[in-house]
Amino acid sequence: MSPAGLLSVLCVLRVKFENAGAGLTGLGPERHVAAMGREKPSFMERAIAEAGAAGRRGEVPVGAVVVDGATGNVLAAAGNRTGDLSDPTAHAEMVVIREAAAGLGAPRLDGCDLYVTLEPCAMCAAAIGFARVRRLYFGAYDAKGGGIEHGARIFDQPTCHHKPDVFGGIEETRCGALLKGFFADRR
Ligand SMILES: [Zn+2]
Repeated sequence: MSPAGLLSVLCVLRVKFENAGAGLTGLGPERHVAAMGREKPSFMERAIAEAGAAGRRGEVPVGAVVVDGATGNVLAAAGNRTGDLSDPTAHAEMVVIREAAAGLGAPRLDGCDLYVTLEPCAMCAAAIGFARVRRLYFGAYDAKGGGIEHGARIFDQPTCHHKPDVFGGIEETRCGALLKGFFADRR
């Protein structure tokens, strides 16, 4: 092989080596962040946005999101609609459970997770149990109206036949601040 020929072979090998190196280091920093974002999107952020929108409509600012645990797809997102629908049961959780189940065409939300900005009341906790929600993530604790860690403690009762995994206090301060601001403005 001529020196020129050897040089061109070495150049090709070097390019291959560099490409292999790029492959070994994996994704660049931007793509790595984007990939992480896909893996762990902040569904509580979406629930907080829904709560804020509900407050601007004059509803108690609570928001909820139902997510398909397998795909990460949002199946339903809503805020409280008790005033809008003239329906005392139209808490954010009830609205998203109904919407998600209707969308799936199924009577239960097997494998789904529910995010809500406030500790669910006893009614919503019972509905979450009926829906067979996999995981419940809630924001602020509600000593006055909650039914998970307070009051009826629905999931601790022998009459409750499905208890989701429960994670409370997610973005607790921000979720609570929405409610405090709403009620302070009304006084
Ligand atoms: Zn409720």
